[in-house]
Amino acid sequence: MSTHHNVLIIGGGTAGIMTAAQLLKKDNSMDVAIIEPSDKHFYQPAWTLVGAGTYDMKKTERTMASVMPSGATWIKDYATGFDTENNVVKTQNKGNISYDYLAVAPGLVMAPEMIEGLPEALDKGVVCSNYTDPEHTWNVIKNFKGGNAVFTQPTTPIKCGGAPQKIAYLAADYFRKNNLSSKTNVVFATPGSVIFGVKPIKETLMKVINRYNIEFKPHYAPIRIDADKKMIYFKYVASDENQCVVNEDNSLGEKLNINGNIEMPFDMLHLAPPQAAPQFVRDSNLVNDAGWLDVNHNTLQHNIFSNVFGLGDVAALPTAKTGAAIRKQVPVVVENITRLQKHKDEMDASYKGYSSCPLVTGYGKMVLAEFDYSGNFTPDPKLKQMLIKDSSKEHWRLWFLKKFMLPYLYWNKMMKGENV
Ligand SMILES: Cc1cc2nc3c(=O)[nH]c(=O)nc-3n(C[C@H](O)[C@H](O)[C@H](O)COP(=O)(O)OP(=O)(O)OC[C@H]3O[C@@H](n4cnc5c(N)ncnc54)[C@H](O)[C@@H]3O)c2cc1C
Repeated sequence: MSTHHNVLIIGGGTAGIMTAAQLLKKDNSMDVAIIEPSDKHFYQPAWTLVGAGTYDMKKTERTMASVMPSGATWIKDYATGFDTENNVVKTQNKGNISYDYLAVAPGLVMAPEMIEGLPEALDKGVVCSNYTDPEHTWNVIKNFKGGNAVFTQPTTPIKCGGAPQKIAYLAADYFRKNNLSSKTNVVFATPGSVIFGVKPIKETLMKVINRYNIEFKPHYAPIRIDADKKMIYFKYVASDENQCVVNEDNSLGEKLNINGNIEMPFDMLHLAPPQAAPQFVRDSNLVNDAGWLDVNHNTLQHNIFSNVFGLGDVAALPTAKTGAAIRKQVPVVVENITRLQKHKDEMDASYKGYSSCPLVTGYGKMVLAEFDYSGNFTPDPKLKQMLIKDSSKEHWRLWFLKKFMLPYLYWNKMMKGENV
C-alpha cells in the first residue's frame, strides 16, 4: 500500500466519508485515502429516537466497508499524530502516511472524567446518556416509576446541542402517556441562559416546556454525581448580580450546600457527558487555545497550514456540531481543495455557519431549527414542498422527516457523495 496520498482524510465518520465520496464523484481518478480504525459506522442522529424506544439501534449501524466510497483507499488504523512540516500523519501500526492535502475529521470524544463521579456512574443503574448507550436510556425511561427525572448537559461544546433537551421532551411525553406525570418532576438543567439561541425556536420550546410542566433551570452546570446517593451537584454559573436562590420548600428537594453549590436528588438522570477533541488532535500544533482544530470559519482551511482542512465535530467553528452542518461544510472543503490543486490560491467556497437541530418535542412532533453563524433562523425553502409552512412550530411532518426521510437521505445520498 502506498504511504503517500494526494488527499488524506482522518476519520470515516459523517464528515470523512462524505468528503471522500464528493471528491471522487468530482474526479474518480483522484488518489483519496481514509484513515479509520473502526469496522462500524453509525447514524447517530437516530440515537435520540432509540433512547425513547421508537427506533431500532441496529438500524443506526452499518459496516464501515459498506459506506467506504469505491475508489477510496481505506487505511484501517488510528491516526496518532502529525508532522505538519513534512506533510505526514503518524499511525499506530502502519507508520507514516504523507499527503498533498489533509482533511482532519476524527469527530470528538466523550470526556466523562471532567465531571467527578461520572465515569463510575455513566450507563449504570438510573444514569444514562443517548451519547453513549441510547438503549440503556430507553431501559431507564421504561422502568421509571416517578420522582425526579433530571436531564442536563455540560459546559463544554457538545455534538448536537439540542439532544439533551429532546430526550427530556420525549420522556415527559412518555410519562404523561403512562400516567406518571402527577408523581414526576421533569427537570431540564443547563449551564446556558436560554433554552435555545434562535428566537422563534425559543418561543416554541418555552411553550413545550410549559405544556409538560418541565422545571427549566438555566445557569446550572453539573460538577459532580454521587450515584450511590442518587445526587447531582450543580455550580450556579450566572453572573454575580443574578445569584441563585433556592426555596427550601421546593418539591424537587434541591438545596444549596455549604460550598454554595446546588444538590439535587434524582430518580433518573440523563446527561450529555463533557466532550473534547480527540487526544492526538489536542496534543498537536493544529489546535486553538480551547483544544479544537483551528480552521478559518468560512474556508475551513487551517489557519496556519494551507494544505490542511478541518470539518465536522473536531473543528473550532462557532456553530452547532451536527451532521446537518457537515452537509454544508463538505462541499466547501471539496471545492477549496480542488481549487488549490489547480493552483488557485484564492478560496472561493465559503461556509456561513449553517447548522440545524431537529428538536423532537414529543412522539410524532418536531420543530426544525436551522440557523447560521449569526443565529438567524434560515429555514430550507424545500420544506414548503413538504407542506411545512413554518418549521419553527411543531409539526407531524417534521417528525416524519426525522424518523424516515433523513436516515434514508443519509445512507442513500449523503454517504454516496450527493450534495442534498
Ligand atoms: C445523541 C446524538 C444525537 C444527534 N442528533 C443529531 C441530529 O439530530 N442531527 C444532526 O445533524 N446531527 C446529530 N448528531 C450529531 C452528528 O451525529 C455528528 O455531528 C456527526 O456524526 C459528526 O461527524 P464527524 O464525522 O465529525 O464525527 P463522527 O461521525 O463521530 O466520526 C468520527 C470518525 O473518526 C474516527 N476516528 C476517531 N479517532 C480516530 C483516529 N485516531 N484516527 C482515525 N480515525 C479516528 C471514528 O472511528 C469515527 O468513525 C447527534 C449526535 C448524537 C450523539
